[in-house]
Amino acid sequence: MSQTPDRPQPQPGLLKIAPYVQGRAHAVPGVEPVKISANESPLGASPRAIAAYRAVAEKLEIYPEGSSRILREALGEVHGLDPERIVCGAGSDDILHLLAQSYLGEGDEAVMSRFGFSVYPIVTRGASAEIVMAPETDYRADVEALLAAVTEKTRMVFLANPNNPTGTYLGAGELDRLHKGLRPDILFVLDSAYAEYVTAPDYEVGIGLVNRAENVVMVRTFSKMGLAALRIGWMYGPPHVVNTVNRIRGPFNVGVPAQVAGAEAARDTGFTAELKNYNACWRDWLTRSLSSNRLRVVPSQANFVMVLFPDARQAADAFQALLERGLIVREIHGYGIPNGLRISIGTEAAMRGVVEVLKDFGAAGARD
Ligand SMILES: *Cc1c(COP(=O)(O)O)cnc(C)c1O
Repeated sequence: MSQTPDRPQPQPGLLKIAPYVQGRAHAVPGVEPVKISANESPLGASPRAIAAYRAVAEKLEIYPEGSSRILREALGEVHGLDPERIVCGAGSDDILHLLAQSYLGEGDEAVMSRFGFSVYPIVTRGASAEIVMAPETDYRADVEALLAAVTEKTRMVFLANPNNPTGTYLGAGELDRLHKGLRPDILFVLDSAYAEYVTAPDYEVGIGLVNRAENVVMVRTFSKMGLAALRIGWMYGPPHVVNTVNRIRGPFNVGVPAQVAGAEAARDTGFTAELKNYNACWRDWLTRSLSSNRLRVVPSQANFVMVLFPDARQAADAFQALLERGLIVREIHGYGIPNGLRISIGTEAAMRGVVEVLKDFGAAGARD
């Protein structure tokens, strides 16, 4: 005796999605805000990308070329990839949604690690599938736990490497072990959003893995490299996955300004190297300067660090103290880490400001 609902009903699972909460963008009144909450570039964008963006401003009436060909060709050139195996999107969010829509449905499961990127549950539930969280070991994805979370319903495994918000990563050997443990019908989505910032010698971005498997996709973004405003993401995958995703992709999903600026940014490897060096230097400095008996900075391979406080109250107090200095960082209780703050690597002034404010929180008994 099913009754007709009195209004349109969303697909099952959608209302289980906790809406994404963006980091704060303004400080307290009267204080100049410095945003170190969204892992944006402290050096701006590639000047070549900005010039390319400006150059298309007079032709906004024209549709883009739908497959983002010029952007795919630039990426192919820079990374040594076949452009035919690249799909571009409006941010990697777009790509993640397309993958979920293509390979997940009601009754399916996707596996991620406990403190993995918060967009994975959104795209999974958006496809009416269930998200399964595997426990981590000390804020690091755990290969055995991920494999143990796989059931016969599993269709996808998400891994951000390095991960946001923890900054931790799995080395090439562990990545390989994880992939080898997955059935061939499970799509392994390797999100290398922070690849450009990794300095660890045993890091594997995922290209090799994609090349030797039929069930791996590498997802990348320009957002952390100075082009967050433009929304550009891309994936590199096996031809059969590329073919599938292209069928449901919005036919004009990347705008002209994003395509031309992205292509220039990709080719501006000098700027990419500069960002990487700057980040590595200040990431090291911030990690050393904040580590103390009471503050733990989890070693990061990304362009942010996660700082752990003795308890949630102290993290909240630190957030507030930073805010009063105009320094906006990211609270991560939404991720289930109420005693942590995520701090993006910012300008030198911002980094020195953070250390000045937080050193009091490191002093024994300072807040008791
Ligand atoms: C920031 C981030 C992205 C990028 O998202 P965009 O939609 O491209 O801005 C993807 N994955 C992870 C893990 C991230 O932290």
